[in-house]
Amino acid sequence: MQRLEMLYEGKAKRVYKTDHPECFWVEFKDDATAFNGAKKGTIDNKGVLNTQISTYFFKLLSEKGVPNHFVSLEGDRDMIVKALKILMVEVVVRNISAGSLSKRIGLSEGTPLDFPIVEFYYKNDSLNDPLINDDHARVLKLATPEQLQLMRQTGLQVNKILLEHLSDKDIHLVDFKLEFGIHNGRFMLGDEITPDTCRFWDKHTGEKLDKDRFRRDMGNVEEAYREIYRRLTGTVFHSDES
Ligand code: 5GP
Repeated sequence: MQRLEMLYEGKAKRVYKTDHPECFWVEFKDDATAFNGAKKGTIDNKGVLNTQISTYFFKLLSEKGVPNHFVSLEGDRDMIVKALKILMVEVVVRNISAGSLSKRIGLSEGTPLDFPIVEFYYKNDSLNDPLINDDHARVLKLATPEQLQLMRQTGLQVNKILLEHLSDKDIHLVDFKLEFGIHNGRFMLGDEITPDTCRFWDKHTGEKLDKDRFRRDMGNVEEAYREIYRRLTGTVFHSDES
């Protein structure tokens, strides 16, 4: 498949047209941002690591029957995906209180939740991605009630699959963000599943193995992404340079 002109450049990825009308080409960048772009940096090898980690999760979800946009890997940091029209709702699923939930409702970080919480956020940089409910999403015409229901259901399904899978790798899945879209009238999971979009904590030590290390200036950011790669694939990551 051939990569054609760029359609969109996001904070962590570039999306290109291809010579196949049903597919996009996604390139994962090493750029890292936090707090809606207020903090900027790069994480060495993040593009390659996130491409491989996301591929791993999309393949796992495909095996478990969760429709998603993954088509194939293209080299180290590129992926062919189904061309989706993305719904402008971010779906966050949480198992342990952390981040914005802890700030918002005063539960200290690390408090296990009695059941998984599903939240919707309006994907809108100029508004700082505000928390919304179903009614807000419907008034803004971001998604239909059926699509909102599917987002919630699929979010919980993905949570169950990933929780179980990651527990075997000694990883606590604290929370994560998903994005969905429509391809040929079919609802499916899109975007990425990586340490950029999930909170992963070591099951025994509680060590953070995700982008919070960048957000909170904790150091060893690349090492954390490499550790997730190693636990998932069972192999040590080697970049071209290392
Ligand atoms: P929080 O709302 O606590 O900041 O984030 C909850 C979870 O969703 C975290 O795992 C976080 O990584 C992910 N998340 C929420 N919004 C975004 C976003 O705009 N970009 C990225 N990369 N992750 C997000």
